[in-house]
Amino acid sequence: MSVENFERMPIWYHPIYTEGIHPDARFPRERYARLVDKILKSPESKFIEVLEPREASREDLLLAHDKEYVDQFLQGELDDKKIRRIGLTPWTHAIIPRTLRLMGGSVEAMSHVAKTRGLAANMAGGTHHAHRDFGSGYCIFNDLAVCAYLAIEKYNFQRVAILDLDVHQGDGTASIFEKDERVLTISVHCSKNFPFRKSKSDYDLEIIPDLGDKEYLKTVEEALQICSNFNPDLVLFQAGVDALETDALGLLKVTREGMKKRNDMVFNTVLSSKIPMVIFMGGGYSKPIEHTVDSFCDLFLKAAEVNHQILNP
Ligand SMILES: [Zn+2]
Repeated sequence: MSVENFERMPIWYHPIYTEGIHPDARFPRERYARLVDKILKSPESKFIEVLEPREASREDLLLAHDKEYVDQFLQGELDDKKIRRIGLTPWTHAIIPRTLRLMGGSVEAMSHVAKTRGLAANMAGGTHHAHRDFGSGYCIFNDLAVCAYLAIEKYNFQRVAILDLDVHQGDGTASIFEKDERVLTISVHCSKNFPFRKSKSDYDLEIIPDLGDKEYLKTVEEALQICSNFNPDLVLFQAGVDALETDALGLLKVTREGMKKRNDMVFNTVLSSKIPMVIFMGGGYSKPIEHTVDSFCDLFLKAAEVNHQILNP
């Protein structure tokens, strides 16, 4: 059978994901460009289609954010204090189009999954520290939140689970959906990590520093059980790999193999109940960055294989 007969999993990517961040920023901006390069060179990329996102609209952003904050950002009028809280500094002029493309990538992945009921991904995003009216920790707007609202309000999903396995707590997402029973927020994270003042997710599963694969995977299993019990009709997966032992910001000691096992556990849950899923990249700050790139490459290649299995049974 030729590959053309298979359904490819779309991943949204744009060079501005890297180029929209200033080269002097502390954020490892090269991770996006290196990752797309690595994925496209891999033989398993036959199951993947890399697409350019459109810019998200102001209306998309307003689904999850206050008008004043959205307009201040779009007009380049955020004050220094608010910009410092976000980071990614010094900002370039491209920070606005970058943010809109990044949000657009998630919105497009969400729309695609609403149609195919399979998997799709954004090679950025997972911006879980962004709250309704301010940004924080490299996150300007919260794409998980925008997608959850889109899913419910535009695509008729009823029960959305946000599964956040990034090493940092999804505090912005938790606060946005604090009183919304249609959206279940689950965050697996290291207790000692940023954000130091945590919000309350529906389920916060904390891991103490320095623990490795065994404890991490046990906690992920617990999170997946909670997710299944909720009986979601859509899962939004924040797939950050900053729990890796090589990560400069995470405090856990998960190996690349452990991270692959994590992904398999998540995808097996999706496979067994055929729940549509959007994958958001999330954090990853290894030194050297290659370890992060390898781990994200594992994630996206596996996701594409699973998408193929779901749509071509
Ligand atoms: Zn993180």
